[in-house]
Amino acid sequence: TTAEDQTRPDRGGGVGVQSFEAASLEVSGIELAFGKNKVLRGVDLAVPAGQTACVIGPSGSGKSTLLRAVNRLLEPDAGDIRMGGESVLTSNPDQLRRRIGMVFQHFNLFPHKTVLDNITLPLRKIKKLTKEEAADAALAQLDLVELREKASARPGNLSGGQQQRVAIARALAMRPEVMLFDEATSALDPELVKGVLALMADLASAGMTMVVVTHEMGFARQVADQVAFMDHGVVVESGVPEKLFTAAESPRLQQFLSQVL
Ligand code: ADP
Ligand code: MG
Repeated sequence: TTAEDQTRPDRGGGVGVQSFEAASLEVSGIELAFGKNKVLRGVDLAVPAGQTACVIGPSGSGKSTLLRAVNRLLEPDAGDIRMGGESVLTSNPDQLRRRIGMVFQHFNLFPHKTVLDNITLPLRKIKKLTKEEAADAALAQLDLVELREKASARPGNLSGGQQQRVAIARALAMRPEVMLFDEATSALDPELVKGVLALMADLASAGMTMVVVTHEMGFARQVADQVAFMDHGVVVESGVPEKLFTAAESPRLQQFLSQVL
């Protein structure tokens, strides 16, 4: 994030984009089927600590399933997932989930709770912070996404872009080591997309480890350290954005790019 954030007087107890410790993420040979439908067929993806990988690919190629397997919302049938070198498939899913932040297309905020309560709830339930500690951490994080003044609003009274920034703040307040984004801007009106992408770009340059499933090719090109193209349950091709977008090797990626660029 920016130098400006560090000098803001009301940032609270040192909670914020500055204070995370990013971990590496290595996905190797992940397979996952829904009944007879083999959705992931040996996915490999390695994201060094502090780097951002964008995952692109056609609808139905398995991108969301991959993120959900990383977060252990789904159990893979084969393969391994390591964070900071340590296998996560054997650890307690709840313990793992507190180390990974996930942001969805449809925000998944609690509509009847205030913005502040949406953020403090997991801090209290999962991190066992006191009410006061959780409120301090939540307000500090809201400050960083420039929504402190909305702390007592309900999500429904915020724009989609603001709601998504709250969802990102909620994930970041948990101080995750890895952040997963599943089409975080796909449900937003066009004029609201930019603000959310800017926040994600800030987070990437602050050194978060991120896996970003996106249709925003401009974002992938500018922000990603690595772009992975998925099709039919495998990473068909991956590499630095320049290479992937200007010198794609696989015909399937060439065809995909010709449709989306
Ligand atoms: P993408 O995010 O790339 O669009 P998904 O990972 O959502 O793709 O879906 C990949 C495939 O897995 C699709 O064929 C989809 O129908 C199937 N699928 C996804 N989730 C489930 C589920 N919970 N139960 C059964 N099939 C699913
Ligand atoms: Mg999806």
